[in-house]
Amino acid sequence: MKVEIVTTGTELLLGEILNTNVQYLSRKLNSMGFDVLYHTTVGDNPGRMRGVLEQALERADIIITSGGLGPTRGDITKETVMEITGTDSYLDLDTWGRIDAYIRKRTGCAPSENNEKQAYVPIGAEILQNEVGTAPGLWLDYKGKIFILLPGPPSELMDMCEKQLWPRLLQRFADHGIILSRTMHLRGVGESRVAEILDDVIMQQSNPTIALYARYGEILIRMTAKATDSAAATKLLDDCEAQVREYVEEYVYGVDDASLAAC
Ligand code: ATP
Ligand code: MG
Repeated sequence: MKVEIVTTGTELLLGEILNTNVQYLSRKLNSMGFDVLYHTTVGDNPGRMRGVLEQALERADIIITSGGLGPTRGDITKETVMEITGTDSYLDLDTWGRIDAYIRKRTGCAPSENNEKQAYVPIGAEILQNEVGTAPGLWLDYKGKIFILLPGPPSELMDMCEKQLWPRLLQRFADHGIILSRTMHLRGVGESRVAEILDDVIMQQSNPTIALYARYGEILIRMTAKATDSAAATKLLDDCEAQVREYVEEYVYGVDDASLAAC
């Protein structure tokens, strides 16, 4: 399953906030076996957001957005997705009741009129309840693809993912397999030398894939395997590690959480 993550918000483009949502979503999705192929960030501009989402629809199966579900005019993610999919919305009374109760509990006041905007749900969308904020998340099936709309505040996004989105995605794609990674740590050799030694192995290997990284005086070899279950992925990693060791054994000082300091 090809996934594109579209983070929205002009603040991100201005560098005012760090895009932690994209890191959280990517890590989790990859660990569950989804192929996160694109990260896109777009400001709160209707035309550009529409362009980005239309492009995502062409190249991904699952499009996950973060941000722009708030009550203000500048929050346009839901409206843009509705435009693209030609979907109308309705006032969901259950969601409105939840927003009303949440705001009264937090502030002691009635919600303002613009909060009602957040209770409008695209027809046919499933609601991902927001237990720590006001905007509900949304899951919208569209022509064999899925739009998943999540709120921007990381605490809301993560709570919604952990409690609702991850279980729902795993249930829907129960048979799509898992991805496991393993990292070998090397010292006493440079990255270009390792790349040279392992060139043939890396070129021939597609599952697991092998990637090299240089970091703080060590070289990391990351192997990433995709399989139907954890045992099969572990076997692929074991075989790959054994093959790689044949070439670089003398430099290997640890695997996975090994630290150079502990050597
Ligand atoms: P709100 O109801 O708060 O307006 P929203 O769903 O409309 O929520 P945004 O307005 O896009 O979301 O973002 C709200 C806040 O969430 C931002 O000011 C920022 O603090 C945080 N945020 C948004 N996107 C991200 C992101 N990608 N990574 C980290 N934090 C983010
Ligand atoms: Mg907002």
